[in-house]
Amino acid sequence: MRKPLVAGNWKMHGSRASVTALVEGLLDLGATPCQTLICPSFVFLDQVQRQLAGSDIALGAQNLDWHDKGAYTGEVSAEMLVEFGCSHVLVGHSERRSLFAETDVQVGLKVEKCLSSGLTPVICIGESLAERQADETFTVVQRQLDAVIRQVGVTALRHGIIAYEPVWAIGTGESATPEQAETVHVHIRQYLAKQDENISQNIQLLYGGSVNGENAADLFAQENIDGALVGGASLKVDDFLRICRAAV
Ligand code: PEP
Repeated sequence: MRKPLVAGNWKMHGSRASVTALVEGLLDLGATPCQTLICPSFVFLDQVQRQLAGSDIALGAQNLDWHDKGAYTGEVSAEMLVEFGCSHVLVGHSERRSLFAETDVQVGLKVEKCLSSGLTPVICIGESLAERQADETFTVVQRQLDAVIRQVGVTALRHGIIAYEPVWAIGTGESATPEQAETVHVHIRQYLAKQDENISQNIQLLYGGSVNGENAADLFAQENIDGALVGGASLKVDDFLRICRAAV
């Protein structure tokens, strides 16, 4: 039985004060009803780690570098993230791929680094609008998955999570319909099943792209949608909790 997970990607938002208030808001309302993960900017990890002490909410980062350490100005290592209480890392978010030219190969290296460091990678995959219109959705997600599997092997995905995030739905207010999302999730499971039935059945498949309090329940009602990766709506306590409640 796959557990539902709702993850918040806070992107490059927040200040000391607003992040403190957001975490307090989540904690004030008691235990979040489903497995919950929040991913603040690197600079807030320390304060959020302290605030979350003793809570069930997991802490994640939005990126990492795959090298152990060294002269990589501006980068953050897996070891650093572990020291700051992270259990998860978003890897290959479409904004990293499109705005920072992150390649499929680099995504594979980052996933490998997460796994060897005891961090759970949330592997983000998804097609652009042009790719969807050209009927290339399945080809794109397969290519993105293949790059990871080539690097770490399919069985290593038992320690990973996949987030299907169609690029055209991220931050646009235009979510995929539950049926559109479910179609791709089913395809991902079938694709994985050809390589490892166990991984295919057990891996958590999140949907991401304009999830909010209104549309979450319908998305989560789909058999193969195990939760959500949430951007904008994760910055408001009430909206995020509404999504978490819809997941159980
Ligand atoms: C995201 O950034 O992963 C995301 C899904 O953003 P939004 O929910 O704002 O579309």
